[in-house]
Amino acid sequence: MSFRKNFIVPVFIPHMGCPHLCAFCNQRNISGISAAPAPEEVSEYLSATLSRERPEAVIAFYGGTFTAIPRLEQGKYLSAASEFITKGLASGIRLSTRPDEMDAEQAQFLKKYNVKTVELGVQSMDDSVLEKSGRGHTAADAVRAAKAVKDAGVELGIQLMTGLPGDSSEKFLNTVHEGVKLSPDFVRIYPALVVEGSELAEMWRRGDYAPLSLLEAVELCAQAVETFEAADIRVVRLGLQPGEELEKSLLAGPYHPAFGHLVRSKIALNNMLRALENYEGEAAEIVVNPRELSIYKGIRNANVRELEKSTGRKIKISAGDAAFGAFKIRP
Ligand code: SF4
Repeated sequence: MSFRKNFIVPVFIPHMGCPHLCAFCNQRNISGISAAPAPEEVSEYLSATLSRERPEAVIAFYGGTFTAIPRLEQGKYLSAASEFITKGLASGIRLSTRPDEMDAEQAQFLKKYNVKTVELGVQSMDDSVLEKSGRGHTAADAVRAAKAVKDAGVELGIQLMTGLPGDSSEKFLNTVHEGVKLSPDFVRIYPALVVEGSELAEMWRRGDYAPLSLLEAVELCAQAVETFEAADIRVVRLGLQPGEELEKSLLAGPYHPAFGHLVRSKIALNNMLRALENYEGEAAEIVVNPRELSIYKGIRNANVRELEKSTGRKIKISAGDAAFGAFKIRP
């Protein structure tokens, strides 16, 4: 388990450049921001937000399809952000976009403007799921786009979703395996949520779409994290950022403000269960790194109860001299 945090200064450009609205998406309701700022407003915002104390800050254009904005406008936004890198107030730029709006020439253009990271909204590697989700691109587009970003020497992030229309456990886990083949530097995984104002909300109201349960989403994401991390690919985000705007517009779906914690706890539970298979004592104390105690115990000690139920043993989980990401078992 490894976590690396960047100091991100987000600039939301809701739906800017998007060719249409994807079925699950309503960035305005999710972010609470109704319109994209003009390049001059971006400069003002960055002047007020960036400081010499955090020169590692990364300016992130999120919430739209950056590379589908007319090239002249892209240049204006990137110049506005680059100015702060030149002044030593930020270290780079990252942005998110769609796979069908990225090619080798576009990737080179971004690199010239200090773009260090591109996040591709891959969402699924199953064409039927992409079609039912109104994405308007294919898995082959994701393969081409990922290659273009990597060939330009730009860091690649991919975003995947589970529980999309037409998706299944098998299709999602296949998406994860195909996602590993894209060789991203990091991954974000979001369970699909039904948000007011989205096409998914209409499908859900008509009874044409049923979201995953929280338990299903946690289990699928836990398997996805294990697969990516076994391939040395970082999973930097699990579930949407909790927030008042999201909670106000949420109609249904596997939302939990600590979704990532639930997934990490599930992985910890799986690991402890595997280790206890070869343990013979009647009681066990599992010693973990103090920073991971709440993950191992689970929310309200859920993992302790599950371990006791599954193994028939008395279980105690305590903080001690275990390395981060590891644990020891003693009688
Ligand atoms: S998912 Fe991405 S491409 Fe689709 S509408 Fe939302 S921001 Fe635009």
